[in-house]
Amino acid sequence: MWRRAAGRLLRGGGAGSPRSASVAAAAELRRRLEKELEDIRCAGTWKSERVIASRQGPHLRLTAGGAGILNFCANNYLGLSSHPEVIRAATEALEKFGAGLSSVRFICGTQSIHKDLEEKIARFHQREDAILYASCFDANAGIFEALLTPEDAVLSDELNHASIIDGIRLCKANKYRYKHMDMQDLEAKLQDAQKHRLRLVATDGAFSMDGDIAPLREICQLAQKYDALVFIDECHATGFLGPNGRGTDELLGVMDKVTIINSTLGKALGGAAGGYTTGPKPLIDLLRQRSRPYLFSNSLPPAVVGCASKALDLLMESNAIAQSMAAKTQRFRSKMTAAGFTISGKDHPICPVMLGDARLAAVMAEDMLNRGIYVIGFSYPVVPKGKARIRVQISAVHSDEDIDRCVEAFTEVGRKHGALS
Ligand code: PLP
Repeated sequence: MWRRAAGRLLRGGGAGSPRSASVAAAAELRRRLEKELEDIRCAGTWKSERVIASRQGPHLRLTAGGAGILNFCANNYLGLSSHPEVIRAATEALEKFGAGLSSVRFICGTQSIHKDLEEKIARFHQREDAILYASCFDANAGIFEALLTPEDAVLSDELNHASIIDGIRLCKANKYRYKHMDMQDLEAKLQDAQKHRLRLVATDGAFSMDGDIAPLREICQLAQKYDALVFIDECHATGFLGPNGRGTDELLGVMDKVTIINSTLGKALGGAAGGYTTGPKPLIDLLRQRSRPYLFSNSLPPAVVGCASKALDLLMESNAIAQSMAAKTQRFRSKMTAAGFTISGKDHPICPVMLGDARLAAVMAEDMLNRGIYVIGFSYPVVPKGKARIRVQISAVHSDEDIDRCVEAFTEVGRKHGALS
């Protein structure tokens, strides 16, 4: 008996042995995962990924299908992802500084280009200092925990980006969630939060599902009245909102009233990757000491730093690219409205074509792709029930003809599926 059991153990088989236990656990895990995946498919919320065989830009080639398509669903607002000068800057940084640092910043991962880019970001936003992260997701994950304690409070718009929500979850401050852009609700929550040492209002500058812009003037007024600080996430604003593309705070004339800005290098600013926080110097110094995604993650690769740095140079030289994007946005919004569609938001290159019904949004998006126009339908739970839409994103590098083709295709598809009479 003992011999048989010992033999099974040595061979690694048999009930009760470590190997059989791990085989059973792996089988159980596989069953559970397959069931969960099936549930996602059944709920109609499965996200599939189309594989692109070309550079990012207004005209794409997909691996499946071969033919070129017109792309209206990237955050490439200024078209800098494939800008020749941005690519050249990345190549030069790669040649001069290598592929990567194999280190976090505080060990041996800080190069002169990291310091130069941080200085440039702070200058661009007219702030004291800036700190780089591998992504804005990381910047949002790292700031609240480093800054706020159980004595403090954070007040967050209910529709803030997932990374802000996760960042707030990680901190021990008292948490208030105010109704989307509802200033009465924010005021009530600020009154309640007076008992705490410090209050931080956190909002997206521009909300990516609706293309709507946070009422920053009113938020800053309330912040002043109730002695609070204001934090904005400018991922969908940096580089193109406001007269010089500085963002929502410039657009709404409150650059001196917003204390902290987090934003991304992965959208308008070259589109490679990376994020940052910019604001008061002591805050940035503290983040370098305490912010976990900064302390425990690799430095940004030089090529990525090169892209973002060149994108900022281009924007600081001229606002022509941002103005071109604004003109294209205006063309799309006015033509679609004239065709009978409802476009959510105002003046923002995120142009959600509101359809209501989830199925209608899905079949119309599919039919648009059949006509060579790449747009994405969004429905519950990504957006509220009954508010399904197709989100169109305009870029400075779309031509007027591209915009007109998109409007024509929408009009045809809308008529075909009953979204237009
Ligand atoms: N914040 C907002 C509002 C975003 O839309 C995104 C990206 O989708 C992020 C943060 C995360 O940015 P990154 O891609 O740099 O992690």
